[in-house]
Amino acid sequence: MQSPKPRLVSGVKPTGRIHVGNYFGAIEQFVKLQHDYDSFIFIPNLHALTESIPSKEELITRTMDVVLDYLAVGIDPEKVTLFKQSDVPAHASLAWIFDCLVTVPYLMRAHAYKDAEAKGKEVSAGTFMYPVLMAADILLYDATIVPVGKDQKQHVEYARDIAIKFNNQFGTLFTLPQEKILENTAIIPGTDGRKMSKSYNNTIPLFATDEEITKAVMSIPTDSRGKDEEKDPDELILYQIHKYFNPSPELRASYAKGLGYGDAKKMLIQDIITFVTPMRERRATFAANPKLVQEILISGAMKANDIAMKKMFDVYEAVGLTQ
Ligand code: ADP
Repeated sequence: MQSPKPRLVSGVKPTGRIHVGNYFGAIEQFVKLQHDYDSFIFIPNLHALTESIPSKEELITRTMDVVLDYLAVGIDPEKVTLFKQSDVPAHASLAWIFDCLVTVPYLMRAHAYKDAEAKGKEVSAGTFMYPVLMAADILLYDATIVPVGKDQKQHVEYARDIAIKFNNQFGTLFTLPQEKILENTAIIPGTDGRKMSKSYNNTIPLFATDEEITKAVMSIPTDSRGKDEEKDPDELILYQIHKYFNPSPELRASYAKGLGYGDAKKMLIQDIITFVTPMRERRATFAANPKLVQEILISGAMKANDIAMKKMFDVYEAVGLTQ
């Protein structure tokens, strides 16, 4: 039966604590869109292995942290199918079919691979194949939209290309997905002004302690502008981050009029703490109830497997692998 609402698929890798960039770039969209889309939000734990496989304990902890983060920010498991990627074997099975459909030169054009190569890293085959697994994640569920930050645009394009290639060769089985990137939150800057990213060490973790928030905010560089000296707020890293927690015109105006950096940092610290306090409380409630969290994941995996296995059967049938 065709789902009455359009489908959405997305996830955040369990490779470290989620940060403010992940939240405003992607996760906030998951929460807002969950009412209007049949949402499949997963923990891409297979993707967490690509750069280097972490210890078993670390992977388990990080995976559980992302589940708690999702629940804490307001993803409603009654509305959303929430599951771990590793609980749905079809992701890896479909990726194999796609691996055989794409070429090495095509994958060599992926930014993530090119960046790793440029840094002189010995790139794992997993990092190289990452976009193909992501294509499988999206196409298995016939997602029409994929809410992400701008850095993921190319990966959704890859998913589209792969769907077109498969459909042309074997008959139309896959829906073409579209990335959903919001203009205002496409690239959230980190404390050093570059894109906020776990790999740049410039993050404000969403569930940081008050002390960690203070330390991160205090590390944001400021210029030598004197108090009350006018400046375009958009040129200040401090305001570029602050505006996500307090988008009011009043705040912007006071930055423009030369709000002192010390005062601005104190306000930002307080605004972040106020913003995350209800989320921290919800997180603690779920963390204290691991049985409930496991039930949510099992029920999500069952629903996801049901859809994914049917799709996989159709793929095997189309390719000639069922007989
Ligand atoms: P990271 O770059 O920190 O490793 P991920 O690759 O796990 O983050 O990204 C998870 C989601 O968060 C993706 O949709 C990604 O586009 C989004 N995202 C990550 N960093 C930012 C940022 N600085 N601004 C906007 N979106 C971001």
